[in-house]
Amino acid sequence: MSTKTLRLILGDQLNSQHSWYSKQSPDITYLMVEAHSESEYVTHHIQKIVAYFMSMRAFAKELQENGHQVIYLSLDDPDNKKSIPANIKWLVENNRFTAFEYQLPDEYRLDQELNQIKKDLKIPISTVDSEHFLTSREELAIFFKGKKSYLMESFYRSMRRKYDLLMINKEPEGGKWNFDHENRHGWKEDFNAANPLLFDKDVSEIIKMLEKENIASIGNIDKKHFPWPVNRKESLQLLAYFLQNHLHAFGTYQDMMDTRSAYLNHSRLSFSINVKMLHPLEVVQKTIDYWRANQNTISISQVEGFIRQIVGWREYMRGVYWAKMPEYAQLNYFEHTRKLPDWFWNGNTKMNCLSNTINSSLDNAYAHHIQRLMITGNFALLAGIDPTELDFWYLGIYIDAIEWVEITNTRGMSQFADGGLVGTKPYVSTSNYIDKMSNYCKTCHYSKTKREGDKACPFNSLYWNFYQVNRDKLEKNPRIGFVYTTLDKMKESNRTALILQAEKYLENLNSL
Ligand code: FAD
Ligand code: SF4
Repeated sequence: MSTKTLRLILGDQLNSQHSWYSKQSPDITYLMVEAHSESEYVTHHIQKIVAYFMSMRAFAKELQENGHQVIYLSLDDPDNKKSIPANIKWLVENNRFTAFEYQLPDEYRLDQELNQIKKDLKIPISTVDSEHFLTSREELAIFFKGKKSYLMESFYRSMRRKYDLLMINKEPEGGKWNFDHENRHGWKEDFNAANPLLFDKDVSEIIKMLEKENIASIGNIDKKHFPWPVNRKESLQLLAYFLQNHLHAFGTYQDMMDTRSAYLNHSRLSFSINVKMLHPLEVVQKTIDYWRANQNTISISQVEGFIRQIVGWREYMRGVYWAKMPEYAQLNYFEHTRKLPDWFWNGNTKMNCLSNTINSSLDNAYAHHIQRLMITGNFALLAGIDPTELDFWYLGIYIDAIEWVEITNTRGMSQFADGGLVGTKPYVSTSNYIDKMSNYCKTCHYSKTKREGDKACPFNSLYWNFYQVNRDKLEKNPRIGFVYTTLDKMKESNRTALILQAEKYLENLNSL
């Protein structure tokens, strides 16, 4: 008897270059499911749900056009059993499949669900790699075995060597591994950023279906002009556009924030890469090739800065996730318990930096790294927000949010909830940093220079209060000794006034 195999493709496994598709077979059927359970485990941004379903539909169509057999269960298909495991069981039982195969999922939750299916189905089950990442799930844990903190920089250098990226013989090209000092300029009135490439699709039909199926969502959408890439062709187009228009200034303005531009010179490629329409190595190699052909106009600092994000930070976060889950999702080093202020969900705050970042996130399902880290993340850490509430928010609002990369960035890098595994010190600041990197303070209701009294910028007192309250946990950290020296040099009355101001703000977070 010949085998009849069912192969599952998850919504973030849209990798048309996977070896699965190198040959067609009448004995293999691919299954793709628009699952209610996946749309509802957190409240997602409407653009995120639409981007997933549009991309999955395009991928299924492409497979069919290439001669593969596909069962595609849309959300409103009467045969859809609403969850991935329920659909698999039903299909296996009713279609006499004799084998089931899946690509290793990126999320712990789905990994557990699929492991459970292994126990429930009475047919042979096998897994294959997703052929997407540059490292295996276990590689980072092995790399850092026995170490208390996982230094990204040493991992990044090993990746550069392993894949021979920007290397000359065994030395880093340009004589340095890291060009951070030449990048990350402060705010500039006449900054240089080309318009973003926004696609322009009508997604009314999908929206109608989501409304009919009562799928809850957050955020805004222009259903006649959907801007995100939803197939490989568009993703490649976005990459080419980035290289031609933004790479030359990527590093320079990487950390800048400006009310006039939501994207500056950022690539907006995270969704395409995370759902695997683009392979990280192809992005990096195309970037290096483009730079080599245009070295007269693009400096190596821009290119190295970009590559570090992808082969460094991105791979590293995935490694931390698989080394530390499921415990990682419970870590709360500072034991923070405060609720997320209501204005995180509607942008309705008088703090201009937060209002701009949150409203832009609600409008675009996007904020760039420094907005996520040094505006929303910074505030949440200073205000002692429960990291679980925050994970729920970050996981829902951003188009690129998938737990393996969201939680390590949020709990780890942004909230220091892992006690310093990912970051060597908490990413917090007063208004000084925000004012240096943005034009937010210029038109804010609050005064960036005031620390106490009416209209004092909340970041200022909350910053000193955070260090005062967490002295026992942070004082011995060699990277922040200077903070405590400054705090201890303050006049007692000034310190008390700052703490009182912070406490007043903390009691009234919703009205800030
Ligand atoms: P660019 O600035 O153009 O960077 C290029 C690429 O580098 C990105 O597309 C991404 O693939 C990669 N990259 C850059 N920084 C990181 C990083 N720290 N970790 C992993 N990859 C990185 N990124 C996600 O993909 N999903 C998330 O859910 C997510 N949540 C975050 C939450 C917080 C609190 C913070 C501080 C960061 C988070 N990031 C997340 C990382 C980063 O902010 C986004 O990858 C980036 O903003 C995506 O926009 P872009 O494609 O324009 O990136
Ligand atoms: Fe943000 Fe404070 Fe600046 Fe206002 S003054 S934009 S609250 S940092």
